[in-house]
Amino acid sequence: MKIRLDHVVKTFDTFRAVRDVSLDIESGELVALLGPSGSGKTTILRMVAGLEYSDGGHIYFGDQDATDIPVRERGVGFVFQHYALFPHMTVAENIAFGMKVSKVKRERAAIDARVSELLRLVRLEGLGDRFPAQISGGQRQRVALARALAVDPKVLLLDEPFGALDANVRKDLRRWLREIHEELGITTLFVTHDQEEALDLADRVVILKDGQIVQQGTPEEVCRNPQSAFVMKFLGDANVLSAEVRDGKAYASGASIEVDGLVDGKAELYARPSDLDWSEQGPGIPAVIARVLDRADGRRVIATAETGEHLEFDVAPERALKAGKGGFVTVRRAKVFAA
Ligand code: ATP
Repeated sequence: MKIRLDHVVKTFDTFRAVRDVSLDIESGELVALLGPSGSGKTTILRMVAGLEYSDGGHIYFGDQDATDIPVRERGVGFVFQHYALFPHMTVAENIAFGMKVSKVKRERAAIDARVSELLRLVRLEGLGDRFPAQISGGQRQRVALARALAVDPKVLLLDEPFGALDANVRKDLRRWLREIHEELGITTLFVTHDQEEALDLADRVVILKDGQIVQQGTPEEVCRNPQSAFVMKFLGDANVLSAEVRDGKAYASGASIEVDGLVDGKAELYARPSDLDWSEQGPGIPAVIARVLDRADGRRVIATAETGEHLEFDVAPERALKAGKGGFVTVRRAKVFAA
């Protein structure tokens, strides 16, 4: 089922939480709404669900204008971070609940068969008789997904479904959700403020700020071509250097880089830690190492340039670098935005 948001607006009292959002979600696509806290992600999801009505614009499900259709008639499944399971029902009863209260009447045997199928899909075979308190947080969210899928939703809406779980479980569930999505192909809208989660999971990432879409694209497009300083900073660690643009080149304390389409004047140069290199001899930005941070996957170095600006970059773990050592930072790749 294709979903289309057409100039959607939502105001709470006088506060405009969603400002003129237009977005197409193709049938079978998994789209992540990504943005900082308060950027309007949940409000958009709730409007798609029918839990909240927009004040302006339209929401279409396929060709049908669903803007005023109530939640029960939209055919959506939800999983929310705090959308608790019924504690007094077993896992199987929780999954069966939607089918039992649905207008579509099913035979008991058909419900049992569907529950078994869903338990297999979410890889919880054998746990159907447990109560929610007897399974882990990650398993509870899998049950919540099975419950949402039980009524064959046309659209699946997930709001920070793994938000309350620890980092390793989140990563496992991410992969698992992607596999389930590939198997079922249900149009899915996923809300998160976790960049890595959005980039790992989604076909397309929609980045929001102050109730507006600031950029959207495949993970590759948004990562390789951020169109604003906000997106650059929001998607990951970035070094920022003040720069000056002259005749198609940006100059920043000893580094220079070709830029396209920027007028001469003050600018800011943004570079990821992985886009900087360190050498003992110049050329480059003269800097002194302030700290060396050892991490499981490598070594991060923080250096201070002569301008006082901090630079972070990654080196191979076997590279012997120490605080106090001087050298030069070169910029392999960067984005430049007008200041
Ligand atoms: P988070 O990641 O923190 O959940 P979000 O991007 O999902 O944030 P929303 O929950 O959509 O953001 O909220 C957007 C803005 O609208 C926020 O400033 C919030 O305070 C405001 N808001 C949301 N719901 C209401 C409400 N029922 N009444 C008043 N203001 C609201």
